[in-house]
Amino acid sequence: MKYCDLHIHSTASDGTFTPEKIARRAKNYRLSGISITDHDTVNAVKEGQVIAERYGLDYIPGLEISTSELEGRMHILGYFIDIENKDLHGLLARLIESREQRVKAIIEKLDALGILCTVEDIERITNGATIGRPHIAEHLVKIGAVDNIWEAFDLYLAAGKPAYVRKWAPSPKEAIEVIHGAGGLAVAAHPGVTDGMMDYIPELVEFGIDGIEAFYPFHKQEDQERARQLAEEYNLVITGGSDCHGTRRGEPLLGVFKVRYECLLKLRERWEE
Ligand code: AMP
Ligand code: MN
Ligand code: MN
Ligand code: MN
Repeated sequence: MKYCDLHIHSTASDGTFTPEKIARRAKNYRLSGISITDHDTVNAVKEGQVIAERYGLDYIPGLEISTSELEGRMHILGYFIDIENKDLHGLLARLIESREQRVKAIIEKLDALGILCTVEDIERITNGATIGRPHIAEHLVKIGAVDNIWEAFDLYLAAGKPAYVRKWAPSPKEAIEVIHGAGGLAVAAHPGVTDGMMDYIPELVEFGIDGIEAFYPFHKQEDQERARQLAEEYNLVITGGSDCHGTRRGEPLLGVFKVRYECLLKLRERWEE
């Protein structure tokens, strides 16, 4: 049996593995194909492709776009996107800008709560990656404000918590349109862990969504089943992946959670149609 992983984060966003490490680990765990899908950036795509080819891995250019819906937790994966596409770059530039603005606002809120944190502190952790709350969480752990990153979200950073700030993000419709404009396929990410997203699928279908992520480490059996039913009903491609963030969320899931390579092949078939 051959396997793949279509949802992986690298050091270009909030993962801790470089593209090199991702490809090497994927190879060691006997995966046949991968897609690096960083939050709101395609910065690792090219490097990933070159290294994956060197390791003899099948590779799909990808990304994961944040959208405005469901408290900003509705994410849309894009596959086979042309990473040189101008509209895609325009959208990602707006997202990066909104992420940077938000970090400043979060830092102000933390300051008001008596927690010391500067933009420079966070930039030392991001090291050029698209900045996100996990980087701030890491800083809070580092200075002993919390014991671990989950506590950082629970006490400060999650929606509704005292240092939460919402970021601008495109509507799901716009995200799907931009992915299509860049020649790619749009896939609803982890609909079972984003509250309300399963019910939203028919609307995403109207906007032209192509696939649904059914296989996901934090999906319950019933989530997977519901995603399969929706795929059947709306003729969506089924995908899956580990959502590995390197070591940032405990044990790395890359190679441990894997999906049948057939998923990658079916996705490519749909793209070639
Ligand atoms: P951001 O992209 O800045 O909005 O941050 C969202 C990211 O934070 C997600 O992609 C996850 O990697 C991580 N995350 C979100 N909620 C939690 C949580 N409760 N505990 C740990 N990590 C989280
Ligand atoms: Mn993340
Ligand atoms: Mn996501
Ligand atoms: Mn992800």
